[in-house]
Amino acid sequence: MTAMQRIYFDNAATTPMDPRVREAMLPWLGARYGNASSLHREGREARAAIDHAREQVAQLANASPSDVIFTASGTEADNLALFGRNGHVLVSAIEHPAVLEAARALDAEVELIPVGSDGVVAPDDVRKRLRANTTLVSVMAANNVIGTLQPIAAIRAICREHGVLFHSDAVQAAGKIPLDTQVDLLTISAHKLYGPQGIGALIARRGVALHPLIRGGGQERGLRAATENIAAIVGFGAAAEIAHREMRDDNASIVAMRERLLDGLATRVPNCTLIGHRTRRLPGHVTFLLDGQEGEAIRLLLALDEAGIAVSTGSACSAQRASEPSSVLTAIGFDAIRARGALRISLGRFNTNDDVDRFLDVFPNIARSLRPVTTFAFAKERS
Ligand code: PLP
Repeated sequence: MTAMQRIYFDNAATTPMDPRVREAMLPWLGARYGNASSLHREGREARAAIDHAREQVAQLANASPSDVIFTASGTEADNLALFGRNGHVLVSAIEHPAVLEAARALDAEVELIPVGSDGVVAPDDVRKRLRANTTLVSVMAANNVIGTLQPIAAIRAICREHGVLFHSDAVQAAGKIPLDTQVDLLTISAHKLYGPQGIGALIARRGVALHPLIRGGGQERGLRAATENIAAIVGFGAAAEIAHREMRDDNASIVAMRERLLDGLATRVPNCTLIGHRTRRLPGHVTFLLDGQEGEAIRLLLALDEAGIAVSTGSACSAQRASEPSSVLTAIGFDAIRARGALRISLGRFNTNDDVDRFLDVFPNIARSLRPVTTFAFAKERS
């Protein structure tokens, strides 16, 4: 008997590496090496490989190659964007912990920008919170838990008008939607766009002051010291180039799969409610709640895992704190019990209609078979 192939529906947590990316990286894990700071041929080749990747990433980010600062993750890039800011800093209430926790550590007054029940920031809510001492506004391009897209161009215009720096965490957006708006500081990460884990970039417009987190040998314009991870940088570059070239085609099929999934859920699982704005969302992102089974997401996830399908509750980053409700869901108005009931499906380049159909075959039975026992426990805990 052949083992049933697993279905991976957790592309918002991380994406499988594209085989073309792996091909590009392989030489740098073997025959090719060299320190990009060395003057000999091996060093010059390594430098050329980094420069090429910098161009590929810049093209995806609609930026100039000299604006790209490679970091070891999206988290590090978010921290670098915020580090050293003082005065008054505005961040949206649904930012990733990489922004929220970095903001909390600042020697600044940090204010949260609220979001509507659809998970979208109203530009006016940014405008009316700006003060004379506001140094930075940070609003993500797309949310990792509910997939909603933010009005980045409008928020940038307000920040420009008031001479305030604007940072946007585009870790979920990069490679999925065009990054047309040139913001002052933009974060991206390779492992969300079919590249390797452990490599990211902060795209920093020239002239924007940054305070390095890591000091040393002066790499990356002196803003991020350490010998470069060339294989990862080359992989990031290849992934960015593929995403830039193929985004439109990828999205056509991913959106079609998302709609197939939503239609199927609507007819087969009528107690299912989509969370977040219906259309202002990432192509492959569906987070939903089962009415009457609030608090059940972990049991649903485990039952689906058993059936060979990988999904997520809230975000992978909070798996270690799985019993805590997602702060994104509470920020959009869910109480703790409902917030524990959200299931996230994130489709990607390597999913197929067959995957969606298999999910639709097994999910209704799983949803029916789980009795909402934990609701009682959570209700007690709340009282
Ligand atoms: N920002 C967002 C919106 C994310 O979804 C993630 C990862 O889940 C990060 C930042 C952190 O990126 P990395 O995993 O590269 O540190």
